[in-house]
Amino acid sequence: MIEAYKNFEVWFVTGAQLLYGGDAVVAVDGHSNEMVAGMNASGALPVKVVYKGTANSSKEVLDIMKAANADPKCIGVITWMHTFSPAKMWIHGLQELHKPLLHFHTQFNKEIPWNEIDMDFMNLNQSAHGDREFGHITARLRRPRKIVVGHWQDPQALGHIAVWQRVAAAWADAQDMLVIRFGDQMNNVAVTDGDKVEAEMRLGYHVDYCPVSELMTYFDKITDAEVDALVAEYFQLYDHVAELEDKQSEGYLKVWNAAKAELTIRACLVAKGAKAFTTNFDDLGHFDQIPGLASQRLMAEGYGFGGEGDWKTAAMVRTVWFMTQGMEKGCSFLEDYTLNFDGEQSTILQAHMLEISPLIAAQKPRLEVHFLGIGVRKTPTARLVFTSKTGQGVAATVVDMGNRFRLIVNDVECTEPKPLPKLPVASALWKPMPNFEVGAGAWILAGGTHHSCFSYDVTAEYWEDYAEIAGIEMVHINKETTMSDFKKELRMNEVYYLLNKALC
Ligand code: MN
Repeated sequence: MIEAYKNFEVWFVTGAQLLYGGDAVVAVDGHSNEMVAGMNASGALPVKVVYKGTANSSKEVLDIMKAANADPKCIGVITWMHTFSPAKMWIHGLQELHKPLLHFHTQFNKEIPWNEIDMDFMNLNQSAHGDREFGHITARLRRPRKIVVGHWQDPQALGHIAVWQRVAAAWADAQDMLVIRFGDQMNNVAVTDGDKVEAEMRLGYHVDYCPVSELMTYFDKITDAEVDALVAEYFQLYDHVAELEDKQSEGYLKVWNAAKAELTIRACLVAKGAKAFTTNFDDLGHFDQIPGLASQRLMAEGYGFGGEGDWKTAAMVRTVWFMTQGMEKGCSFLEDYTLNFDGEQSTILQAHMLEISPLIAAQKPRLEVHFLGIGVRKTPTARLVFTSKTGQGVAATVVDMGNRFRLIVNDVECTEPKPLPKLPVASALWKPMPNFEVGAGAWILAGGTHHSCFSYDVTAEYWEDYAEIAGIEMVHINKETTMSDFKKELRMNEVYYLLNKALC
């Protein structure tokens, strides 16, 4: 179990019926208990599974689903049909359930006991047809769900359940997420904007604004002693040149002001109970510089961040951070910065003016102060400088297509970064899959942002589960993608989402 998920649980409900007599149900109940205990003891699952008994009638199913909805600890329901559980009895309960659903097609016995198998064995190991009956009704109801197939002790099957649990945890986290916008979208930018009402209806989080004048009331309350203490922490945590500690230097003043900005933003986010925020470099109040260092450090703490008012990416950065609790390589807000054409090895430099999370750093970050000529303050600005880890990762973004949200996911390979002596910002360098030509082309065809939410620790399966739970479109650009197939997929999706509501 993962500490961050300790207040969460996933319910396990076994579908049965009384056709085979009470003894069979008692035996199945015993098997289910053993399975759930085994799954919890496997160490493979980040969220505790709680067995909720067998459901043998329409009323029992409905009662369990209503209880699942009402219990804030319950972040999702796993169903398994040990036997033929006539699926009409699941209709009302499934219609009622508002939490993520996983259908586990498994069986208590791993292998057929060829010499001993008899009718009693059959009565206790009937998910081969029971899960198909259940699958029919979930398909008929168009109920979004994840289907995991495999023996309950199989690490691969448990791995798929673990992914879904992490996504369900992040989904629960997003349902009371407040995203605060300090300032609006950057002037005239389309892709980072969208329907905030639909976002709350569909994705759960509430997007609100905080006038920078209100943020400045927090600024006014920060004491010099608090700032001094945070500056001392910076110097302890990060490599830096000795001159930066000279209290008479401009560099020190800039670091000091950056620390005050961090304390200001954190105080405001804490007071409002926000989990994510955006900034706008044209709207800075009394901040003497863009609060980039603050954004970097707050991201590392788990606050979602999006630059220039990008509230969708801010929410996603929080969500992916929550999904990957206890995982090692990190996640960040990133921006497609500049291109490096080199045939099959062509790459995209990922950076931002300042705001990259140190969670993805390959080495101890350096605290530096350099002139930054963007926004309303053109001035030396503090930031953490580093290059990212290498290896595979996943970039994702959500765009508003007018009638739906589209989640675009691209597998990427972070390559060895090159030194950027005259561009002192944090950065990553990646090759989108399947290659730069198709990866970038497909992303652009799908209408993807220049901003993304990046993680080394998730795979596309996480985002697929997320899109399934949210009921939004997802397209995945990967090693197999070709432009002609991708075009067809987008066209088919256009029709599907136009007709979807009419079909349901
Ligand atoms: Mn940007």
